[in-house]
Amino acid sequence: MGSDCLFCRIVAGEIPATVVRETATTLAFRDITPKAPVHILVIPKEHYADVATLAQGDPGLAAEVLATAADVADDEGLLGDGFRLMFNTGTYGGQEVFHVHAHLLGGAPLGPMLARDLA
Ligand code: AMP
Repeated sequence: MGSDCLFCRIVAGEIPATVVRETATTLAFRDITPKAPVHILVIPKEHYADVATLAQGDPGLAAEVLATAADVADDEGLLGDGFRLMFNTGTYGGQEVFHVHAHLLGGAPLGPMLARDLA
């Protein structure tokens, strides 16, 4: 992808980010507008638009994103009280940045899964 993808530019070091963990294939950095005491984004370095594209295109890499998220949750002390891992996907999912990212949220009770019941 490259120059017009925000998160590819973070991977390339062209845009600064507060990186908390890096592996050969993944990167974890703090969300610029945190919604919880801990709010970290976990991404594959390789560009995939969303979690469905990633999981269907490279399930092994999807697993590495999950493993990095678990390691970051451990580093941040979230394993005891729990956390939320969330992939906003597409228009209905509210996705704004089209480079797949897991939101790792924790550090306080996070409330209901959705702001309101849509069922
Ligand atoms: P989403 O709506 O799931 O696509 O989430 C995109 C997330 O990226 C939001 O939570 C933003 O706050 C976050 N974000 C946008 N720009 C940056 C940036 N430069 N560094 C870190 N997080 C960012």
